[in-house]
Amino acid sequence: MTAPSVPADLRHPALAAADPELAALVAAEERLQADTLRLIPSENYVSAAVLEASGTVLQNKYSEGYPGKRYYEGQQIIDQVETLTAERAKGLFGMDHANVQPYSGSPANLAVYLAFLKPGDTVLGMSLPMGGHLTHGWGVSATGTWFNGVQYGVRRDTGRVDLDEVRDLALAERPKLIFCGGTAVPREIDFAGFASIAREVGAVLVADIAHIAGLIAGGAHPSPAPHVDVVSTTTHKTLRGPRGAMLLSRAEHARAIDRAVFPGLQGGPHNQTTAAIGVALREAATPDFRSYARDVVTNARTLGEELAARGFDLVSGGTDNHLLLIDLTAKDVPGKVAAKALDRAGIVVNHNSVPYDTRKPFDPSGIRIGTPALTSRGIPASEMGTVAEWITRVVQAARTGDEATVSEVRSEVKALMDGYPAPGLPVS
Ligand SMILES: *Cc1c(COP(=O)(O)O)cnc(C)c1O
Repeated sequence: MTAPSVPADLRHPALAAADPELAALVAAEERLQADTLRLIPSENYVSAAVLEASGTVLQNKYSEGYPGKRYYEGQQIIDQVETLTAERAKGLFGMDHANVQPYSGSPANLAVYLAFLKPGDTVLGMSLPMGGHLTHGWGVSATGTWFNGVQYGVRRDTGRVDLDEVRDLALAERPKLIFCGGTAVPREIDFAGFASIAREVGAVLVADIAHIAGLIAGGAHPSPAPHVDVVSTTTHKTLRGPRGAMLLSRAEHARAIDRAVFPGLQGGPHNQTTAAIGVALREAATPDFRSYARDVVTNARTLGEELAARGFDLVSGGTDNHLLLIDLTAKDVPGKVAAKALDRAGIVVNHNSVPYDTRKPFDPSGIRIGTPALTSRGIPASEMGTVAEWITRVVQAARTGDEATVSEVRSEVKALMDGYPAPGLPVS
């Protein structure tokens, strides 16, 4: 899967000749992704095959509509690309219908609102600072402005969703739509529990599996398919595809979903992305990907144990998936200060609010880290002690202003990364 080690001007010869300035930036980004330890839980390294599919002449086509019902001629091949990708999506996730056209996760979620709600209707979702996504009805998002967003959180004592709270809110507010899932949720989602609440109040239940789609495809997290009406997902996180999204649904909702995506919200689909999603779905159906998904979880759990042993405070006490949310209050370092020091050390994370955070969202108490990208490089659980030790040293250095330690860690990180070349990147 690893691309051969060739200079950037030979890897992208036409780009280098036509636009040296942008070619140099692409080469620099390749270098950055090769040399750093990328712990952003929503990021990954796509395979060379996915990368190639995203850069094909499928880019050149307009295809408004759906296979067999287009508003443009010349769709002989594009129809086959989209049908093949949608079939693979249905098969892999076990849903009746798949729409593979949403441009990304946020527009996919907006299409769900358009399919089922009128402006002013009530949606129940997880609140952003508790781990939910903006598009689940949070105030600054269109979804919380045009709709009545009611939000559940996590319990203060467990750091986990409390289904009794969700049920109480659902009974009191009678939402038409309920979202489960989020962006900073380290624990398994109880799809069956949410489904029984949605049934009780007659709401449409959406599982937003953007973060965990790859774990579900690889059998490392339970599937929402038997329980929910709609599944919304990005394709570029643990699923390891191109930047894009999909909406899957039961047969009865197929028409509403399709009409909401086009013509409700979007124009022409990004066909090169559709093809690359198809490639990623084929890869995700292999035994190799099942081991990948298992290893992502093992790495996250091991890293969590190593960090906890070094005095880090993990929200909910640990993880069931690919993600760890760390409250740095006890380490006496704000999340952003820690994240910036880690970045200087070649360890890329994001600062993040923790549940019941006393600090502001743009200057929160925590960091969020995850193992999808490092696992794609083949870094094993036996290295998680080293990673935890680096994080410990850098967070301590951030507090004392010890830049020497930061640079020391940076060269140690680079040395380990050289031993585990990333898919799709130059290795030297
Ligand atoms: C990432 C994410 C999205 C949004 O995806 P974009 O492609 O960034 O628009 C939506 N929902 C959840 C839960 C996510 O994690």
